[in-house]
Amino acid sequence: MTIGIPKEIKNNENRVGMTPAGVFELTKNAHTVFVQSTAGNGSGFFDEDYQNAGATILDTIEEVYASSDMIVKVKEPIKQEYALVKPSQILFTYFHFASSEALTKAMIKSKAICIAYETVENKDGSLPLLTPMSEVAGRMAIQQGAKYLEKPIKGRGVLLGGVPGVPPGKVLILGAGVVGIQAAKMAAGLGAHVTIMDIDMNRLRHVNDIMPNHVVTEFSSEFNIRQRIKNHDLIVGGVLLKGAKAPKLITKEMLKDMRPGTVIVDVAVDQGGCIETTKPTTHEDPTFIIDDVVHYCVANMPGAVPYTSTLALTNVTLPYILKLANNGWQETCASNPSLYKGLNIVNGKIVYKEIAEAFGWNI
Ligand code: NAD
Repeated sequence: MTIGIPKEIKNNENRVGMTPAGVFELTKNAHTVFVQSTAGNGSGFFDEDYQNAGATILDTIEEVYASSDMIVKVKEPIKQEYALVKPSQILFTYFHFASSEALTKAMIKSKAICIAYETVENKDGSLPLLTPMSEVAGRMAIQQGAKYLEKPIKGRGVLLGGVPGVPPGKVLILGAGVVGIQAAKMAAGLGAHVTIMDIDMNRLRHVNDIMPNHVVTEFSSEFNIRQRIKNHDLIVGGVLLKGAKAPKLITKEMLKDMRPGTVIVDVAVDQGGCIETTKPTTHEDPTFIIDDVVHYCVANMPGAVPYTSTLALTNVTLPYILKLANNGWQETCASNPSLYKGLNIVNGKIVYKEIAEAFGWNI
């Protein structure tokens, strides 16, 4: 099969769909890989690295789409790319169709095979191609929170780890899922005092089993949250209700109970956020302040660390890419229930019910 890796052209997207290691595996399996020139630069992988791994470098995005049976990307195609997608071409990438009617209509029109990373689903309901990005965002939440707690950027002026003779800072984490656990691990590693809340007792039991003693679990309720926000320095929002908007666990009125310079990192911003005052921000302008509380609400946190994020993403996508390339999409999806769930649009038809429902269409 011929596999194409275009350069991402969405604003500020520095990740790339495949590393040289992926090219090496595919060419070892007798496939041909076309990489657009400079596609990997933003992640620290250069044309020469891809060539040494066996890829052919093409100059333009048009050549990559025209030459490839399968396109492997990171973000959904944007308007300039719509016309490049060919009938029967496999597109394997994040699509998030329900949030764009224009994209959905364009991919229906293209008659391509659209397999979305975000809906590939394991038997236990976990989303293996989303997990690594939550891991990155969870760990980054503490790194960013620690930075914005510094006084010159309007934080409380608290060092999370404390020093001998001065108690550590306090971190409150809402949600003990992938984001929450990774955030807890980082905060605990810095020596902070950590409280992590969830409504799922099994999650809290798990955290209690694996974390050191200075990570305290507490059931998530409005009463408990109101108590904790009064004396915590950094609050991380990592809740998710599958398929729904995040519940607002901290209202605007509650900000008044926090100390000036408290920092909120609302990782759940991409699902609307779990703080009432959350609104999406960018890496260029990541924070805003309401009632003396610093809000960090960047919707694509992993984009700031493209080297790590590209490796984390491609570690989990490559096994699927290899199967698709070796056996074709029909055989692979028929024998792999997780990947089958990734099929969103096939030959001009929506095959994932929730996407049609999002626009009030029948399938
Ligand atoms: P997850 O499903 O692993 O965990 C979510 C947790 O929230 C679950 O344990 C659930 O029980 C808990 N929860 C639900 N309601 C709660 C409540 N009322 N109080 C406390 N906990 C509650 O999800 P995840 O992978 O950790 O992702 C969390 C959020 O982070 C998602 O919205 C995801 O899209 C987002 N995310 C954002 C970025 C970014 O760049 N901003 C990157 C990755 C993920």
